[in-house]
Amino acid sequence: MSEAPAVIGDADLHTHSTVSDGTEAPAVLMAQAAAAGLWGIALTDHDSTAGWAEAAAAVPATGVALIPGMELSTREGFMSVHMLAYLIDPSDERLLAETTRIRESRVTRAEEIVRRIGRDYDLSWDDVLAQTVEGTTIGRPHIADALVARGHVSTRSAAFAGILHPRAGYAEPHYAPDPLTGVRLIRAAGGVPVLAHPGTRGAERVIPPDRLARLAEAGLFGLEVDHPENRADAKPRLRALAQQYGLEITGSSDYHGAGKPNRLAECTTPSAVVERLIAEGRGSTPVLP
Ligand code: AMP
Ligand code: FE
Ligand code: FE
Ligand code: ZN
Repeated sequence: MSEAPAVIGDADLHTHSTVSDGTEAPAVLMAQAAAAGLWGIALTDHDSTAGWAEAAAAVPATGVALIPGMELSTREGFMSVHMLAYLIDPSDERLLAETTRIRESRVTRAEEIVRRIGRDYDLSWDDVLAQTVEGTTIGRPHIADALVARGHVSTRSAAFAGILHPRAGYAEPHYAPDPLTGVRLIRAAGGVPVLAHPGTRGAERVIPPDRLARLAEAGLFGLEVDHPENRADAKPRLRALAQQYGLEITGSSDYHGAGKPNRLAECTTPSAVVERLIAEGRGSTPVLP
């Protein structure tokens, strides 16, 4: 077993850059983490590790530790389930095949959503591409930004509450593996899986115990209980489930720059938990100052 480095402060274990639907470049995130007084952050762009190199290069100048990560899209029926994947091997072939498939499906799906919206609003695929950089994992936030740029809505959040809301009739899912497959893929790639924001739908809709038991058996490391969008009524249940299944509790902001109200470092994970997480990572290593 590799010796875990000394973690000397709290970490924000869930952040997004321009590689997915965050508005700041990876190096800017690192500088913002330094300003926020964090020991470290995990960069967890959706279905991509393309931001790791830029963030790692910013470690010496910022003095902020980087835990390489990703937020893997999975799906249980109609429900989107996000699985944080820390310290994976970024060249693991099976995981790469899956994330490539997800990202391709994200493009096809976004094109379809834009086609549908385009029947009622002045919006083109080029408008959406204008909101991305080379290699971006495309998502609804980029459609939201295009709607803002066209003046149809005032903010991303307004787009999600209106035109992008399923009841508006333009919605379409993208391909994603099921959560159990996700946990297995992440562990097989040497990574450490954590169920992201499991309480955003309230106490009545947290994952059923039998399903969580299967994820725990497959190697789930923890539950992201301290997350700004988890509902207060869901947290006691999540803590009880973590206790029952021997899972760690993590905290993170899910910072998206200006793309969401979430503030960097508003929720964090204590150093002892970060140390145990790092000790289980086999696919890549944290980058320390
Ligand atoms: P998608 O990946 O295309 O399914 O879009 C989901 C993403 O949209 C999530 O990762 C969030 O970052 C973002 N999102 C969801 N709701 C909102 C909101 N109300 N305001 C801003 N971003 C949101
Ligand atoms: Fe996101
Ligand atoms: Fe998420
Ligand atoms: Zn996220």
